[in-house]
Amino acid sequence: MSDTKRTAIFPGSFDPFTVGHEDIVLRGLQIFDEIIVAVGTNSAKGGFFPVEQRMAWIRKTFAGMAQVKVESYSGLTVDAAKALGATHILRGLRNAADFEYERIIEQVNKQMSGIETVFLIARPEHAATASSIVRDIIVHRGDASMFIPEAIRDEVKCAN
Ligand code: ADP
Repeated sequence: MSDTKRTAIFPGSFDPFTVGHEDIVLRGLQIFDEIIVAVGTNSAKGGFFPVEQRMAWIRKTFAGMAQVKVESYSGLTVDAAKALGATHILRGLRNAADFEYERIIEQVNKQMSGIETVFLIARPEHAATASSIVRDIIVHRGDASMFIPEAIRDEVKCAN
């Protein structure tokens, strides 16, 4: 193994960041020296929370952890990876639907750039956690606490 610093980009919408995302980053740090959480701004999904707000929440979640950086990007993930100096892409897999979607993206990214994607399987306790569900709960004034990282729980759950 070379002693080059291993940096992964963890791209996503993070709208908002959840305990599932947090878990992928923390586990990813067992593999990578540095993880750049990159908020994509041109997803077909549009956006619910402003990108700056999403980034601030991610920064607060990992406050004091120099190995975690937060950026935003538009355009292709592989271009962002190169621009940010990432050697790998990190993604999480919750279920078969995630897998079918992700494997196409992985193959295209690999073909375009040579960059390898590393997948971590969601812990069972996080496999049902999705940003879309958290948004629904918030919109309908339910309590989404259990899905939101502790450091940002109080502000995210009342954010709407
Ligand atoms: P995207 O819009 O790119 O799907 P998301 O913010 O929904 O962005 O997800 C970013 C990454 O985190 C994806 O790889 C997704 O599969 C993964 N992910 C989302 N929720 C979870 C979870 N609960 N557990 C593990 N991985 C997750």
